[in-house]
Amino acid sequence: MTGSAPQEPKYWPLKRYFEVYDRSLRDPEGFWAEEARKLDWFRTWDKVLDWSPPFARWFVGGELNACHLCVDRHIKTWRKSKVAIYWEGEPGDTRVLSYSTLYREVNRCASVLKNLGVGKGDTVALYLPMIPELPIFMLACGRIGATHTVVFSGFSPRALADRINDIGAKLLVTADGGFRRGTPMPLKNMADEALELTPGVEKTVVVNRAGIAVNMRRGRDFWYHHLLEDAEASVSVEPVESTHPLYILYTSGTTGKPKGIVHSTGGYLVFNYSTYQWVFDIKEESVYWCTADVGWVTGHSSIVYAPLAHGAAIVMYEGAPDYPTLDRWWDIIEKYGVTTFYTSPTAIRMFMAHGEEWPARRDLSSLELLGTVGEPINPEAWLWYYRHIGGERCPIVDTWWQTETGGTMISHAPGIELLPLKPGSAGFPLPGIDAAVVDESGQPAKAGEKGLLIIRKPWPGMLLTIHGNPERYQEAYWKRFPGAYYTGDYAVKDEEGYFWLLGRADEVIKVAGHRLGTLELENAAISHPAVAESAAVSKPDPVKGDTIVMFVILKEGFEASPALTKEIVGQIRKMVGPIATPERIFFVGKLPKTRSGKIMRRVLKAVASEVPIGDVSTLEDGASVDEVRAAYEALEEEV
Ligand code: ATP
Ligand code: MG
Repeated sequence: MTGSAPQEPKYWPLKRYFEVYDRSLRDPEGFWAEEARKLDWFRTWDKVLDWSPPFARWFVGGELNACHLCVDRHIKTWRKSKVAIYWEGEPGDTRVLSYSTLYREVNRCASVLKNLGVGKGDTVALYLPMIPELPIFMLACGRIGATHTVVFSGFSPRALADRINDIGAKLLVTADGGFRRGTPMPLKNMADEALELTPGVEKTVVVNRAGIAVNMRRGRDFWYHHLLEDAEASVSVEPVESTHPLYILYTSGTTGKPKGIVHSTGGYLVFNYSTYQWVFDIKEESVYWCTADVGWVTGHSSIVYAPLAHGAAIVMYEGAPDYPTLDRWWDIIEKYGVTTFYTSPTAIRMFMAHGEEWPARRDLSSLELLGTVGEPINPEAWLWYYRHIGGERCPIVDTWWQTETGGTMISHAPGIELLPLKPGSAGFPLPGIDAAVVDESGQPAKAGEKGLLIIRKPWPGMLLTIHGNPERYQEAYWKRFPGAYYTGDYAVKDEEGYFWLLGRADEVIKVAGHRLGTLELENAAISHPAVAESAAVSKPDPVKGDTIVMFVILKEGFEASPALTKEIVGQIRKMVGPIATPERIFFVGKLPKTRSGKIMRRVLKAVASEVPIGDVSTLEDGASVDEVRAAYEALEEEV
């Protein structure tokens, strides 16, 4: 019966999911209040939502405490002897913290903070490697009502100083060092450089992690283990109002100067408590490993707050994924019996480039569920992950979210109902999330048509504001489509309601009047068997508007050659169309990425266009910029 409407309701396989979803949008406040009741509150809220656009305050008047939720409430149950954190240092040293050990450590840490004069309303900067003290300090801040700002330990002194000054922290917590690829990074030395530029910092606490020599300035710098000698064993929990800022975290700066995103306590925790359950279907016996650094929002929500609020057992690893060998991660999965594994497409592509023999060496049969976050996952990488990590048995939940959203917004939700998976699609908006794809004028885009992703209702995990800059908050997220939150990302919603993320809206390439997404071009290149990773950027052209320049990393065993260039160009033309013919393809060993693994296309673009590259404080590896530039210059000479 061609042409007639299908007999089944549109979402027939997803009945339960859409029941929950529809109910959540019919009565969002009732829905979120029900979710909020799953947490412990010292005082119930007076109002679920106070919405004076674009500022949302959730559970106003309610009082709670993040540390109580993540730690105290478990030790009143059998979970006190459950593992909270399996920690593994890069050199192979390990620590296992039960919930009662975590409780003890968090209390002592809170006492140290109090003795240093930190209290409710203060902001503490944390510049720590991936060691248990990082979540311990975060939770201890929460315990006494202080706000934390975690600065990723790979950041430069300059980036650290900018963030400290922006938030006005008086206390900085750091470590002597942390291990990365076999050598300790001298964090305290780097912090010393930053401290030259941060007159507001009065004291620093230094955790002894790496046993390396540091300078301690008398009266300003204190060893954590010395301060612990005078610490009390217990510090009472400070209830805070729901909208009290739990933390301020800077975005990764892919598109420009990082923004200090302010998150609340109540709304943020409610949102993360619920979404974590929906997405990861977490069970008491799960062993959950998120490979992100705690320095990113993924680490805040998906390593610390959501899992610990659920009393989950987490794995935390200090070092590099390929150190000392390319099976380090797979070894960790085998060793701790990880059931739930959450990582980035960029990491998967890196492992894919080195071949499946590395994961094949390890027993990964404990895995039950896989996840990805941070960038769209191309179908090749999805399938590789599914086969070689998940053993064709584990569903993959892609999760779309941002620092600003606080938690996952679009994903699959096996915790409600496992939806049929489509490789490369992020899935559906989670309950309570009114996501839509619209055209430039704000009208809903047709199914299958590319548009801009917006969120039409506030949600509890939503940022409160940008620190010190409410105007930028309004401008960046609420001006483009009045009444709706603008994500800055392209997306397509297909006939069945699945969302496909297509990269950032500011990353389109306009060739002779056609608008091409960088992601489309990159996915086309990656679909060539020799290509491990690629980045597409535009280069201004007086005739065409823009031309396409591609940077390509080859898989192991492939060599750059004019013939291969031709093949890759052919592949892109075949997949996207003749209009998408790259002007140049550069073969490089690395791409400039943010520390969270995202390609900084604006850096490549600047290199290709020969203009200054701008703020690269969030860049992972300065060397990769030089390499890209050298590859570019070499080619310029050839021509
Ligand atoms: P800045 O806002 O400073 O430019 P950023 O956007 O890279 O930095 P984050 O908040 O860490 O900082 O990243 C959020 C962005 O990452 C999203 O807007 C989206 O572009 C991308 N992203 C995250 N998860 C996914 C996903 N599952 N699929 C596709 N894209 C994703
Ligand atoms: Mg962003």
